[in-house]
Amino acid sequence: MKFGTRAVHAGQEPDPIYGSVMTPVYLTSTYAQPHPAEPKVPGHDYTRAANPTRSALEANVAALEGGAHGHAFSSGLAATSTILQLLKSGDHVVAGDDLYGGSRRLFERVYRPLGIDFTYVDPSDAASVGDAIRPETRMVWVETPTNPLLRIVDLDAISNVCAAARATQKILLCCDNTFATPFLQSPLAHGFDVVCHSMTKYLGGHSDLLGGALIVNDDELAERISFLQLAVGALPGPLDCFLALRGTKTLHLRMERHCDNARRVVDFLDAHARVKTIYYPGLERHPNHAVAARQMRDFGGMVSFVLDVDVEEAKRFCTRTKVFTLAESLGGVESLIEHPPSMTHASVPEEERRRIGIDDGLIRLSVGVEDIDDLIADLEQALPA
Ligand SMILES: *Cc1c(COP(=O)(O)O)cnc(C)c1O
Repeated sequence: MKFGTRAVHAGQEPDPIYGSVMTPVYLTSTYAQPHPAEPKVPGHDYTRAANPTRSALEANVAALEGGAHGHAFSSGLAATSTILQLLKSGDHVVAGDDLYGGSRRLFERVYRPLGIDFTYVDPSDAASVGDAIRPETRMVWVETPTNPLLRIVDLDAISNVCAAARATQKILLCCDNTFATPFLQSPLAHGFDVVCHSMTKYLGGHSDLLGGALIVNDDELAERISFLQLAVGALPGPLDCFLALRGTKTLHLRMERHCDNARRVVDFLDAHARVKTIYYPGLERHPNHAVAARQMRDFGGMVSFVLDVDVEEAKRFCTRTKVFTLAESLGGVESLIEHPPSMTHASVPEEERRRIGIDDGLIRLSVGVEDIDDLIADLEQALPA
């Protein structure tokens, strides 16, 4: 079935008892068993082991990514952390150099002290990923589009450059698909093994929950992840699963509007005298535009740009918008604005920020699904003359 049909229906059937069309929220921690160790439905002896609302969500996100197995977690970082729990001391990971800040913090401050080594490279240069692979490399971790500079990673090129090493050693190729969503990009179809999501963002889509997901095709890998769900327990509650499932039903509709609105915002910014640089993969002059056009169905709802102002004026600009709310996070129906150097990327050392191009005047927009005329009027009144 096509994407929109999967979004609405995958993993969900009318409830067999009352016929309720919506998936019931099974708010229960445990299940009555007719006989010891014989739950009514196999595997359903405790909610950490299985919960029908969570299973519905997992089947839904797996179908959206075109994967065989979905696994839900309590947050995007809980999902990321679970993948790293597949590794052991002495293993090595090659990762992109402008990852989501929380992923970098997890790698450096939780897993490096446990003996896992990380090398960061520019992932839009696939050769640099290949060059960083060592005999003990067990994982490649990329994000595309990246945050906040919206660079595009060529997923085919990464899997090609890793193919020779993968013939002799196990290397999991993992893609954080949070910014693109499965509506725009399918990493599994490009030879990747694991897709990771923060469902907090576009999948949930309404800024009302925290959630994460991992989607894989390999049965054995899925079994290991299921074991970690049970053994570690970083799981979402049934109510959050229900909210995420309600969100994914409209993912395709929301993404179309996010993409259209972002394009119009870019057209407006491009014509404004105080806007120095725009980071948006839909622009033909974007260095990775050709890859984006080939790999993605559209260019997404995120736009970053540099204002021709100092850091204080950039911050003031973010307080003058009225429709765009000044807040971290992204991917909800409402438009958000933020100043990465002082907010989402404040923990990146200044020297490193300069090296990767996070300028003092950098602004990041998560363009929502409001009426585009109001969004543009809002930016116009807030921008410096
Ligand atoms: C937000 C985000 C995460 C972390 O997700 P949480 O749900 O906040 O834990 C990971 N990757 C990307 C790209 C994100 O935007």
